[in-house]
Amino acid sequence: MSRLAVVCGGSRGIGKAVSHLLAERGCRIAVVSRSEGIAQATVASLHGGMVLCDISKEQEVQKTFETIQKTCGNISYLVNAAGINRDGLLVRTKPEDMVSLLHTNLLGSMLTCRAALRSMLHSQGAAIVNIGSVVGLKGNSGQCVYSASKAGLEGFTRSLAKEVASRNIRVNLLAPGFIHTDMTAEMSEEAVKRSIPLGRFGEPEEVARAVLFLLESSYVTGEVLVVDGGLQLAM
Ligand code: NDP
Repeated sequence: MSRLAVVCGGSRGIGKAVSHLLAERGCRIAVVSRSEGIAQATVASLHGGMVLCDISKEQEVQKTFETIQKTCGNISYLVNAAGINRDGLLVRTKPEDMVSLLHTNLLGSMLTCRAALRSMLHSQGAAIVNIGSVVGLKGNSGQCVYSASKAGLEGFTRSLAKEVASRNIRVNLLAPGFIHTDMTAEMSEEAVKRSIPLGRFGEPEEVARAVLFLLESSYVTGEVLVVDGGLQLAM
């Protein structure tokens, strides 16, 4: 049977591009996100399924992964691309926004990894890719909480990689720079792209190809792969 990939945040942006690429590689896809609006066409074209779930909620995550395993079988790949941003100076950031950001970007990925691991133990060559960010590595003014969530994800990824290596499950972090998605739609590309050595934002498909590399490689684990057009060189 073909490999089963669970893509959290697969309804839009980077996760959607990953879902398409994995479907092209013959995987079955389970797309996880809170709403299905934009994903209808995606899921239909992927011969996959869609499960509505808020990854920041432990009980929903547990139920979702139990359903996926029962109906689709063991999970080979998990991609954690669900994320939100709440940019602004720290002094102006509301505590409730800090909580929801950390619960989605950091706790959410921890919960999905935890829920998927038991099933992944039964798959040969299972792998997880968490989507971090270049600002989690370098920091950025106006993104203290977002950066902290992504830096936390880096530590989590490296630790989990050590924890599950003996079971031949690999765990890596992909850190994108500025990518054309809904998340960056309101940014002024003109103002920012001067700071990117390659002189442009990336496309979700360019990130997806790097995710695929990490999933399909066999000897890379606990690693951070930066896909940012050289942005971090200038940060
Ligand atoms: P988008 O806003 O385009 O997509 C985000 C996805 O996450 C959607 O599918 C959304 O679906 C889902 N999602 C958000 N919150 C939850 C939740 N609580 N539970 C389940 N699903 C959720 O973002 P991108 O594709 O740009 O971002 C993907 C990842 O890449 C994020 O982690 C982001 O932080 C990271 N990243 C993005 C960069 C960029 O420039 N775009 C740069 C660096 C990192 P729904 O709303 O229906 O739940």
